[in-house]
Amino acid sequence: MYEGTDLEEYMAEIRQSVCAHCIERPPGGPPCAPLGKRCGIELNLGQLVDSVHEVHSTAIDPYIEKFHEDVCTFCPNRPTNQCPCPLEYLLTLAVQAIETVDERRAERSHKSKTPEPFQR
Ligand code: SF4
Repeated sequence: MYEGTDLEEYMAEIRQSVCAHCIERPPGGPPCAPLGKRCGIELNLGQLVDSVHEVHSTAIDPYIEKFHEDVCTFCPNRPTNQCPCPLEYLLTLAVQAIETVDERRAERSHKSKTPEPFQR
C-alpha cells in the first residue's frame, strides 16, 4: 500500500481538485479531521489510491464498486454518523485526481529514462 511521501503528491492534487469542491468542508479546512470532520479521504487515502489503481475503466461504476469493497468495508468512520462521507459524491473527482498524478509520474519517469539527444 502507498504510504508517507508516496502519498503526498496524491493528497496535494486531491486537496486542489476535490476538497476545493466539497460542500461539507469546515471553515479553515482542509485538513478537516482536526476540525471534527472525519472524511474518507484523510482516513483512507492509501486504500483509496490502491483501489483506483486496481480499476482501469472509462466508466465510473467499477471505481464506485471497488471503493465500496476495498475502502468502505474497512473504514473506521463507517459505524459513525459521519458516514457516508464526501467521497461518496466526490469519487469521480478523486479518481481523476489520482489518475492525473499517475500520468504525471509516468511522464517524469519516461523523461528521466530518455537519453539526451546526441551533441555534435
Ligand atoms: S462513505 Fe463511509 S465508509 Fe466509505 S469512506 Fe466515506 S465514511 Fe468511510
